[in-house]
Amino acid sequence: MKIQFNKIKTQILLLPIAVILCACVSSSPASSADAQMNAKALIGNTAFTKFTDDFIENLWEKNPTWALYNGFYKFDDKLNVPTAQNRAIELADAKQALSDLQKFNPKTLSAKDATDYFILENALKSSIWYTQQFKSFEWNPSSYNVAGAFGLILNTDYKSMDERLRTISKRMQNIPAYYAAAKENITTPTLQHTLLAIQQSQGALGVFESSLKTKLSESGLSAGEQKEFDARRRAAVESINSYISWLQAKEQELNANNSARSFRIGKELYAQKYQFDIETEYTADEIYALALQEKERLHSEMIKVSHNLWSKYFSAAKPSDDLLMVKQLITEISKEHTQRDNFVDAIREQIPALVAFVNDKNLLDQDPSKPLVVRETPEYQRGIAGASINSPGPYDPGANTYYNVTPLDNYDAAGAESYLREYNDRMLQILNIHEAIPGHYTQLVHANKSPSLVKSILGNGAMIEGWAVYTERMMLEEGYGNNEPELWLMWYKWNMRVVMNTILDYSIHTLGLTEDQALDLMINQAFQEESEAKGKWRRATLSSVQLTSYFTGYKEIYDFREEMKATQGADFNLKDFHNEFLSYGSSPVKYIKTMMRN
Ligand code: ZN
Ligand code: ZN
Repeated sequence: MKIQFNKIKTQILLLPIAVILCACVSSSPASSADAQMNAKALIGNTAFTKFTDDFIENLWEKNPTWALYNGFYKFDDKLNVPTAQNRAIELADAKQALSDLQKFNPKTLSAKDATDYFILENALKSSIWYTQQFKSFEWNPSSYNVAGAFGLILNTDYKSMDERLRTISKRMQNIPAYYAAAKENITTPTLQHTLLAIQQSQGALGVFESSLKTKLSESGLSAGEQKEFDARRRAAVESINSYISWLQAKEQELNANNSARSFRIGKELYAQKYQFDIETEYTADEIYALALQEKERLHSEMIKVSHNLWSKYFSAAKPSDDLLMVKQLITEISKEHTQRDNFVDAIREQIPALVAFVNDKNLLDQDPSKPLVVRETPEYQRGIAGASINSPGPYDPGANTYYNVTPLDNYDAAGAESYLREYNDRMLQILNIHEAIPGHYTQLVHANKSPSLVKSILGNGAMIEGWAVYTERMMLEEGYGNNEPELWLMWYKWNMRVVMNTILDYSIHTLGLTEDQALDLMINQAFQEESEAKGKWRRATLSSVQLTSYFTGYKEIYDFREEMKATQGADFNLKDFHNEFLSYGSSPVKYIKTMMRN
């Protein structure tokens, strides 16, 4: 079962500021909600826990590569071959698991188990839909790449290097069959995914042509083992080269006949994918309409703030074009930034102020026994610049949660200046709220109070991102930064990116938005740099729906809080609202709402 694998892979590969969140899980202590259940429900819960444990063990056995990425190494020497026959087996398995799951009644389960139930049900239905309807195995050649998992085994010290090399040797046996199946599956690909696959497969060669070769020569493997290893390695190189030539021929054919599949997935698939990936009460059409409204609101707020701030920064008259005025002011304020050598320290120094503000204002519970460790991103994780929360995987409980910050070592002077202007003094504070406190890191600490393997593997991305975005606005509304207009202006720009991501994704995939129109929207209405806008266009042509998760989750949470304020009146307490909201873990917001309304 390839449950939401596309989504997870896309997030890891394409997010500029990647959040790789995996809640850490030890045993499964009863939550307080469990304790209040009656005896009958407790029997149900025990059976349900057994069901989910078996389900996940089975999931790893069927998806050994995905298991590796979650730190589960039992099936590390297995490489699945993506044949039509194996896909049929996976489909039957998913249908069987769905029918087994539906023997439970979520109404008799505790809140923790009921949310797990709904997440599993969606994941299984989604897996069936991906295989039967979305069928990206037919048109996305970049979904075939074996290198990542081999690199991971090579770079992760979970057993001795010699043992890992023996595992790799076994795992390499299926590589020729793997690429043969890929060619068999691909019918009419998109040009964009074909080009990406050529580029990434050329990258994959590096693992087999050099990294593995070097490690083998330094190993303690016997002469016989080495010979076998090297034969398999050479067969792998040959298969990847043959896949690349095949894709290059395919590309020529697609261009010559103008026969490539469109990268736009279209209205119907988009509407369905939105429901499976995001799990919200909104439809795709509704969230698009809300994003358009929010763009207008943000523009009018930005214009208001800019009129007031203009004379503080400029002696010249304001431009007659309001959005141009906003842009010039943003550019000016962005010049207040830290220096490149101080980037990591600047972030580290801000964390205690955030902790103190959350405590002083009574915004939510924090856990001083689980400190966040700010560090420079380790070399092997440094693909993309930026900052991200790196939490322990579900099978590594007790390990630290790191706030990885990549130093700007790889930038030339102009590149570093541009990056520092983007992450200027104000923006850096918003980034820290989002990634750390009370954003991703704090959400994770709360989620871990009621550990769920299901949620740590299949947790809802829109809730996770929505929470982080929600906290930015909540902190500013509570007075963080003393209501400084400059900080608000920067937040409006930052938040406009989230809103624009939704507008772009929907418009590109369902309304035929062109590249020029998209760049115009991003540069002139969302105040983005051309390089960022071009990168976003590319990302939106290679993925779909994921870009809407931030705005959807944020909108749901913010509106729900306003609803609770209105219904509870004087009884509403912000801290209680936050603590309860987070107590359900990384569940889709629509289920959290149902439970909190009861
Ligand atoms: Zn500067
Ligand atoms: Zn985030």
